[in-house]
Amino acid sequence: MQDIKKVGSIGIKALIYYFGTTAFAITFGLLIASLMKGFFPLLDTAELSYEAAQSVSFMDTLVNIFPSNFIAPMANANMLQVIVMAIIIGFGILLAAEKGEHAAALMNSLNEVFVSAIALILKLSPIGVFCLLCPVVAENGPEIIGSLAIVLLTAYICYFLHAALVYSFSVKVLGNINPITFFKGMLPAMMFAFSSASSVGTIPINLECTEKMGASKEVASFVLPLGATINMDGTAIYQGICSIFIASCFGVDLTLVQMITIVLTATLASIGTAGVPGSGMIMLTMVLASVGLPVEGIALVAGVDRIFDMGRTVVNITGDAACTMVISNLDQKTRKK
Ligand code: ASP
Repeated sequence: MQDIKKVGSIGIKALIYYFGTTAFAITFGLLIASLMKGFFPLLDTAELSYEAAQSVSFMDTLVNIFPSNFIAPMANANMLQVIVMAIIIGFGILLAAEKGEHAAALMNSLNEVFVSAIALILKLSPIGVFCLLCPVVAENGPEIIGSLAIVLLTAYICYFLHAALVYSFSVKVLGNINPITFFKGMLPAMMFAFSSASSVGTIPINLECTEKMGASKEVASFVLPLGATINMDGTAIYQGICSIFIASCFGVDLTLVQMITIVLTATLASIGTAGVPGSGMIMLTMVLASVGLPVEGIALVAGVDRIFDMGRTVVNITGDAACTMVISNLDQKTRKK
């Protein structure tokens, strides 16, 4: 983007969309799970053990966004820090004007090289996905899927409804695109997200799909990677459902204040959680801890986490794409004016 102000205005719109939809998603998950609670199985909670992830305070989340040096974010694959660094370097290139042109050309060329390298790796992904799914059934036996079927079904109903309602509405009203065209255009990215369970891994295909549907490259290449890191509607739904399910197994009824705490914690935790397989389950430890629910309860759903993960990743990346279509359309409108 050639204009610093534009980066700011697009960034703010994306953040509002991302936080709004994530908070809605978790509220929706809590609500539907509360309605379905009576049908959830009451699993045995004795002998459970699970290592809790350390919960991170709001201040730490904020501070952790900023890298301490130039190399660490890339070495540690910390996407959010990489994005922050990229924005600062991008501003630097703009401010350097002509003298920054070589750096910009180098970045563009490196971008092409990395995208081609990722395309090569993606060709191998079906084999990788098969290998990832095998241990779930091999370690737990097919019965594991049976006893949690109703919880899984509830999650998948919520995933479906959230995508069908929230994204159809936003792409239709704000993105000026027919929802059916949108979902059809998103099919390759959704299929890849389902099998890989990684929003970050799906970025290249998501870029391709949104650009084919008319999103500007400028907007998509900023909004999508940001969304892959901070926007997790599917993961938020999963947090809501699992909190209610685990609470009910331990005989706890969540109060309204606890539910509000869950909404806030999950929305904030999604900022610092990378869009990679299984990260939503680690986030769940923070959410449970925030309302004093036993973190060991995660062991109840850990065996089938991959199945939850496949669906929630589809919702995560579709939300990123919906936001891209909306912002690209709003941007085109302001340009015409
Ligand atoms: N796998 C999800 C993603 O990449 C994150 C999660 O575990 O919920 O978006």
